[in-house]
Amino acid sequence: MTQVHNFIAGEYVASERRFKKYSPVTGEWIADIHEASREQVDAAVRAARDALNGPWGQMPLQARIAILEKVVDGITRRFDAFLAAECADTGKPTALARSLDIPRGAANFKVFADMVKDVPGECFETATPDGRGAINYSVRAPVGVVGVICPWNLPLLLLTWKVGPALACGNTVVVKPSEVTPQTAAMLGEVMNEAGVPPGVFNVVHGFGPDSAGEFLTTHPWVDAITFTGETRTGAAIMQAAAIGARPVSLEMGGKNAALIFADCDFDAAVEGTLRSAFANSGQVCLGTERVYVERPIFERFVAAMKTATEAMRIGAPDEASTQMGPLVSKEHQAKVLSYYQLAREEGATVVTGGGIPDMPAALKDGSWVEPTIWTGLPEDARVIKEEIFGPCCHIAPFDREEDAIALANATDYGLSAAIWTTNLARAHRVARQVNAGIAWVNSWYLRDLRTPFGGAKQSGIGREGGVHSLEFYTELKNICIKL
Ligand code: NAD
Repeated sequence: MTQVHNFIAGEYVASERRFKKYSPVTGEWIADIHEASREQVDAAVRAARDALNGPWGQMPLQARIAILEKVVDGITRRFDAFLAAECADTGKPTALARSLDIPRGAANFKVFADMVKDVPGECFETATPDGRGAINYSVRAPVGVVGVICPWNLPLLLLTWKVGPALACGNTVVVKPSEVTPQTAAMLGEVMNEAGVPPGVFNVVHGFGPDSAGEFLTTHPWVDAITFTGETRTGAAIMQAAAIGARPVSLEMGGKNAALIFADCDFDAAVEGTLRSAFANSGQVCLGTERVYVERPIFERFVAAMKTATEAMRIGAPDEASTQMGPLVSKEHQAKVLSYYQLAREEGATVVTGGGIPDMPAALKDGSWVEPTIWTGLPEDARVIKEEIFGPCCHIAPFDREEDAIALANATDYGLSAAIWTTNLARAHRVARQVNAGIAWVNSWYLRDLRTPFGGAKQSGIGREGGVHSLEFYTELKNICIKL
């Protein structure tokens, strides 16, 4: 049985307590995960502190960048092993992980290693009463030991999205990957050692949230900052833990994202983009669309086209070349999503397509499968419209006026992203500015440039990461004033 160890101070470390990892594809037991004890989390944080005060903290920027470039090479060299581990943990189609998860895992180190090479500083000449003046200039210091708490939907991609800039800025990290998808995080340890990252700079501790590694890490007094991606409820708990010691937090949380489809859109592109935004990664994308609003003249046609396209999607095992959608990540998550499928019926939805478990071949029967599902006809106050489901499903409703579409998009506690489909340029700008979300896509979805600000409004997040915004979170800006 595969053993997934903690990685502390440059070494793989076993734990007495272990928990089982099951395949989302077949339901088989595929690995034992070593759950870090409070003492092991403490050892990881101490190792991170020592590395910060020692070799990593003293290392010239150029040497640090050279090491991070070797990390990129290390991931690239082990591409197939990372791919296999990510697909085994998540069940996502190999084609998706090959084009997105693993390349982005490497790119997240490259982009931020490049970015820290030329971070601009501020400088001011200041008048003084003696006429000799002073110079003020700013420098960026690492924020310290960073606690990194990650979700299961894009495990390597979202972990490196935080670890890449954190290390580029000279911090040390203790990572707590999701208990559901811990393998690629652990594999990174080997890459770090091989690249020459000093022991203690990168640590991984496995376990759960409350009364486990997540809580031990976020409440540890030697953790200087916490960066988190996951559910809004968990983010609130982490923020409370961070309040002790007034530690900064960056929170990337849930969404209930809307797509606004105007009658003047490129119809086929809107159908293709909305289909992708609802069902990519089995709907387990924080930026995914669960609420679709369509201008009334094209409503019926749009629903019909979505139904046809959804029913043509091929559901299957990750390694089948034809697979477009895999299972959900776990049995627990399958039960949650199916409970919403049931709730939608109770709340009066018309099930356009899906709504259950697909008929799978015998070898896959015990996987966490659900059908991609489309509903219409729900009232706007239905729980299915209000709550994040995080599955391959969406509700489609008509609207009549532009202002109605904006009001519907904004009628949510969340504010992560929106997708606007129109060929009217003035409308695109007007609507994009009025939707209350951290990211508004026009005529696209999930088109990412890592230099841009990424994060959510309202209950979808606090702070922004990406580009210089990551550098701001992972550094402490210091002003130096020299009297001349
Ligand atoms: P989750 O909140 O259940 O878990 C995330 C991580 O937090 C896990 O590692 C978990 O063990 C840990 N955790 C749980 N309770 C904790 C506690 N009390 N203290 C410390 N750590 C704790 O989220 P999930 O189910 O893994 O991921 C899905 C969620 O993530 C969805 O809500 C999705 O929208 C969100 N998400 C957001 C973004 C974004 O960028 N905004 C990206 C991906 C996923």
